[in-house]
Amino acid sequence: MKKKKVIFFFLILGIISSTILILSWFIPSIETEGFRFGDKLLVIAITISLLIYYYSIKEKPQLMPSILSSEKDTSKEKDKPNVSFKDVAGLEEIKEELQETIDFINNSYKYKKMGAKIPKGILFHGPPGTGKTLLAKAVAGETNSTFLYASGSEFVEKYVGVGAKRVRTLFEKAKKEAPSIIFIDEIDAIGTKRNSESNNEKDQTLNQLLVELDGFNTNETVIVIGATNRIDLLDEALLRPGRFDRHIYVGNPNVRAREKILEVHTNNKPLDKSLNIKDLAKKTTGLSGAQLANIANEAAIIAVRNNKTIITVKEFDAAIERVLAGLELKNPNVMMKEKNIVAFHEAGHALVSKVLDVDLIQKISIVPRGQALGYVLKFPDEERYLLTERELFYRITGLLAGRAAEEYKFKEITTGAKDDLNKATEIAREMVCSYGMSSLGTLALDEVYIRYNYDSIRQEIKKITDKAYSEALSIIDENSEILQKLAQTLIEKEILDKEELDVIYNKYQKPFNYATT
Ligand code: ATP
Repeated sequence: MKKKKVIFFFLILGIISSTILILSWFIPSIETEGFRFGDKLLVIAITISLLIYYYSIKEKPQLMPSILSSEKDTSKEKDKPNVSFKDVAGLEEIKEELQETIDFINNSYKYKKMGAKIPKGILFHGPPGTGKTLLAKAVAGETNSTFLYASGSEFVEKYVGVGAKRVRTLFEKAKKEAPSIIFIDEIDAIGTKRNSESNNEKDQTLNQLLVELDGFNTNETVIVIGATNRIDLLDEALLRPGRFDRHIYVGNPNVRAREKILEVHTNNKPLDKSLNIKDLAKKTTGLSGAQLANIANEAAIIAVRNNKTIITVKEFDAAIERVLAGLELKNPNVMMKEKNIVAFHEAGHALVSKVLDVDLIQKISIVPRGQALGYVLKFPDEERYLLTERELFYRITGLLAGRAAEEYKFKEITTGAKDDLNKATEIAREMVCSYGMSSLGTLALDEVYIRYNYDSIRQEIKKITDKAYSEALSIIDENSEILQKLAQTLIEKEILDKEELDVIYNKYQKPFNYATT
């Protein structure tokens, strides 16, 4: 870049001097006495050479994703990730499933000789941070293939045709550098269902992607891996056989996978001998691989900050809280009145969750963290794949219990329940639209129906949340002594752990029957 600027500077000087020298041939009043004819020709020749040189080093226009163009000049070796399946913990079934693809790349002649067509498109779908990118890189690493990364959003452009051109460039590069893996992250950015309202540029980009998927792989060993969090939004044409026809769900890890992921991310760290990774895995139900990696890293950072030479369970607990609830505010400026409200709000959540047996509460805190003034740290106590209607309803009741406690105690509600309301509404919405758990019937509602009948859907959602809210209020009313005690202790100590909660709960507990939905 610096070289280009220097040349540009001399080029401008050259253009100005040459212009003056040329003009001096026609306008005698311009004096160029010191220059002989030969000197003038030399200056003009140098300027022309500079001009040609400047244009030869000028950057090519950006028509491919930035990540690709930045890789353009780097050596081929650099595109080959040194990640292997050893770095991907858990996910054993998925690794097994991918073995066939790996074998195809490593021994492609075997398949070609047999006239076998191997799936060229694999789609990873599932929640964020579960290792989709890592898996794709590992496939490239295991096969020593070139890894070409592109994010769907990089293809989305205002100008018609640019996205399509980028797709073409990406595939051209992949073919040139075969064997190669094209990884398109967030493929939903270009691959959502086409309809009359969709925009022309996006459709062109998607069409180009479909064309490219159809058009290669007779001789080239190129595999395309897409990743998305929303497979339901993808256009059917993209999922058709011959395109992304292998769908692999990459979900949040179970307890054994979490243990393995934590092992991978702690094996280069000095751990206290008494630290039990199995216990950590049990404490982190529902977390993704990325969150676990983050926890291991945070624990190391906290240990350094505390001048420790080994990482103990204390640092891991602090890291879990840091990752889940955000940064602890050191000198929060919370008024006493607010502290009271937050204490009752969190006590409400803890009490109702405990009564309804929703998740395992590990800690209640009113020390502000991130944007929250208080929080209840809880995990599901076991891996669950199926939830009953009643359990979903209880979850909503637990979420609304913070606001219910505020209303019960202060006869006034605050803005503190914003996040709870979002989560509760989302669960209720899923109950109505996806699980057929409302009076609208035992059916899943599609996007078009939802858009045009949102009023009736909203009424159903409201019925559920209203019922859950009054349930939360009545549980709080029945157990007001526990609420009072929990809130009081929170105001004094700011933090209550699982054991302290159990002591208070067991001491003031009353028998109550909540078997309603
Ligand atoms: P997104 O959908 O948000 O793009 P992703 O599913 O592609 O996320 P990755 O980027 O692959 O997730 O994972 C992020 C990080 O989490 C990885 O770099 C790795 O450190 C860690 N990680 C996730 N899953 C695993 C795993 N199974 N084994 C080891 N590390 C993992």
